[in-house]
Amino acid sequence: MRFDVLTLFPEMVVGAARYGIAGRAQEHGIVELSVWNPRDYTHDKHRTVDDRPYGGGPGMVMKYQPLHDALIAAQKAGSGSTKVVYLSPQGKPITQALLFQASRLSQLILVAGRYEGVDERFVDMDCDEEWSIGDYVISGGELAALVVIDAITRLLPGALGDEDSAQQDSHVDGLLDYPHFTRPEQVENCTVPDVLLSGNHADISRWRMKQALGRTWQKRPDLLNKKELTAEQEILLKEFLNQG
Ligand code: SAM
Repeated sequence: MRFDVLTLFPEMVVGAARYGIAGRAQEHGIVELSVWNPRDYTHDKHRTVDDRPYGGGPGMVMKYQPLHDALIAAQKAGSGSTKVVYLSPQGKPITQALLFQASRLSQLILVAGRYEGVDERFVDMDCDEEWSIGDYVISGGELAALVVIDAITRLLPGALGDEDSAQQDSHVDGLLDYPHFTRPEQVENCTVPDVLLSGNHADISRWRMKQALGRTWQKRPDLLNKKELTAEQEILLKEFLNQG
């Protein structure tokens, strides 16, 4: 899969994507990342990418033409199924399900805005969707693009050391992840739950499902309201609640 990011700060995206899972996935050819700077598609000697907003008011707005031309160049670099997404606080909230669908694309083009944002005609005419990383405003879309790239890369075959680990993550199945422990067995007066030391895989897996259900109930009851539990999961959640 390839990611193309339209950004005024290409080094920020390339630099941060060099680390961890995203960096390794690029090295192994699982993902390809290219950046496109609208400034390279300007035609004036000052390489102007922004201008004052019509109607007045604070801040600057990213101009249509450099963004449009950068997008055309990015589109030419890809093939197959493509989507153009403008990262925006006004977009649809990003969820694991949305990212899973996007992980099936051949090319995802992410547009990182700056200043007051981009000329609305670019959003209307050139972008397929707007996505938000949450109900707050950050200064530029680069961090949001990096969030998307990292979260999708985790879902691609071969990107994680252990194929199962993405399957067990929070939100994959509408639940939060179960708790994890590692050596030593005792920290102060807190010990690792006995079942995890038992070697009984059926018991461990039952305990983990019970914990996943219980902590979702405790921390994010809204998720449980959206999920239809199996009969077994209903029993495990009741057991968790009865155990206090
Ligand atoms: N004036 C815009 C508004 O209130 O809707 C905010 C512009 S913001 C300062 C600059 C850029 O940061 C946006 O164009 C967008 O690309 C990015 N951005 C800010 N908050 C975001 C969020 N929650 N999710 C995704 N991108 C965001």
